[in-house]
Amino acid sequence: MVASLDVVSLAPEMMTPPMGITSERLQARPDGSLLWTSASRPSVLVVEDEADIRELITYNLLKEGCQAVGMASGEEALEAIRRQVPALVVLDLMLPGIDGLSVCRLVRSNAKTQAVPILVVSAKGEEADVVAGLNLGADDYLTKPFSPKVLIARVRAVLRRYSEAKTMREEDAGSEPSFQVNDLVIHPGRHQVVRGAQTIDFTVTEFRVLAFLAEKPGRVFTRQQILDGVHGDNYAITDRAIDVQIVGIRKKLGDAGGYIETVRGVGYRFREIYAEDPNL
Ligand code: CA
Repeated sequence: MVASLDVVSLAPEMMTPPMGITSERLQARPDGSLLWTSASRPSVLVVEDEADIRELITYNLLKEGCQAVGMASGEEALEAIRRQVPALVVLDLMLPGIDGLSVCRLVRSNAKTQAVPILVVSAKGEEADVVAGLNLGADDYLTKPFSPKVLIARVRAVLRRYSEAKTMREEDAGSEPSFQVNDLVIHPGRHQVVRGAQTIDFTVTEFRVLAFLAEKPGRVFTRQQILDGVHGDNYAITDRAIDVQIVGIRKKLGDAGGYIETVRGVGYRFREIYAEDPNL
């Protein structure tokens, strides 16, 4: 693919095999990263049929201190994920055989593998597929051609969100930091929302968007503010990702989906309903 090869030719040093990189050197990187300076190296599975791109991605992940394993097909990847669930899956959408969207769906529908974070990689012009991937529970996406810097930033953001969520769940054991808005009881530690007798499960990203809005009911947030609040740092991503998350949240909330209001030309707001509200 011409567009992808452009990236490779812009960064020829990235194609050098990762020889001589020691774990000491990796852990000494003074970049302030939460994950990359830790002794545990997150395992990342890279699913990409184009060898050049697969090597580019795995090489950069290795350089950042991940354990990266490349797979050329969806079939191989599914087998590997079921055998041992990695910390993250970087998943190309256009694959021969089982395509990326099907891999995403199968991973999400299996109890053992459903929680693994997925970063979707797509070629330009596959926007509909990206939206489908996000709807199937992918956490984020990257469009080819991409720079190694952007790749690493996305990988870090997704891993950090999951590691924070895990810490929150662990810290929640015994404590009750939940809060209530309207008829929703929001449990940040458990990543769950309870509404009456119903317990609603969200993906990590959906939950963070919902909790972010619900913590300040009535206040309008721009998409950028929501992105910053959810990701904890700035990086380039389109507003569409937030819109897709909102669609998913509303769907899961059912007839409470209207609590999240679209504020035209601005963004979104969580609507607090008072007893005197005629809509109640
Ligand atoms: Ca491909």
